[in-house]
Amino acid sequence: MKPLELALAFVFGVAFGSFANVAVYRVPRGFSVVSPGSLCPGCEHPIPWYDNIPLASFLILRARCRSCGVHISVRYPVVELLCGLAWAAMVWRIGVHPELPAYLAFATALVTLSAIDIEHHRLPNKVLGPASIVGAVLFLGAAAIGGRWVNLEHAALGALFYGLPMLFIGLAAPSAMGGGDVKFAPYLGFHLGWLGLRLVLAGGLLGLVAGGLGGAAALLVGGKGMKDPIPFGPFMAAGALAAILLGHSILSVYVGG
Ligand SMILES: [Zn+2]
Repeated sequence: MKPLELALAFVFGVAFGSFANVAVYRVPRGFSVVSPGSLCPGCEHPIPWYDNIPLASFLILRARCRSCGVHISVRYPVVELLCGLAWAAMVWRIGVHPELPAYLAFATALVTLSAIDIEHHRLPNKVLGPASIVGAVLFLGAAAIGGRWVNLEHAALGALFYGLPMLFIGLAAPSAMGGGDVKFAPYLGFHLGWLGLRLVLAGGLLGLVAGGLGGAAALLVGGKGMKDPIPFGPFMAAGALAAILLGHSILSVYVGG
């Protein structure tokens, strides 16, 4: 993999991260993601392009709005940085292949949904729905271009293999598993399954283990009760990304293949 390709992926990922930030702020608040253009959440002053450069503007403005001086959340550069890193990681792992656009969209959606889940404790249908449709269309295109219908079949099975157990857990223990998590699982399974059904298992287990450890840590540190569970979505997303990036090496150690 050429360093130039990874650098380009990072730059485009950061740019898409600034769109992700718009969705992270506006979707849970019921605002349109299309218009108006970027506004300061404090004074609603339109943000000029030169103050809206991903990563750079946050540093230049020292996390303050130029008009009113309101503090800008560190979430903005973090989301941009994570999108950039996730895009570079996907290009590194998937390579320049017909399914790459699906994984770039997937990476962007995971960062967007995780940021919303951390802030609002939900995974909105208004993000998950369009992301699922985009994923299905891009995979259909990749299968048609590359004749990779077996992968598409595995993707569909992956959605079932991750989605059904989570549905059972959600029905059996609604307090442990939110409805958003249940709907998130088939989306993750679909993208894991394309790469191989064993990655669905790896991604699901990594997500559950990470979420369990994270929940236990939150109980120890913050004494959080079951009424205020920590969001599970980011752990599921991290498990899926870890499986995609490292799954084959993990599996070859434990399964010997
Ligand atoms: Zn302002």
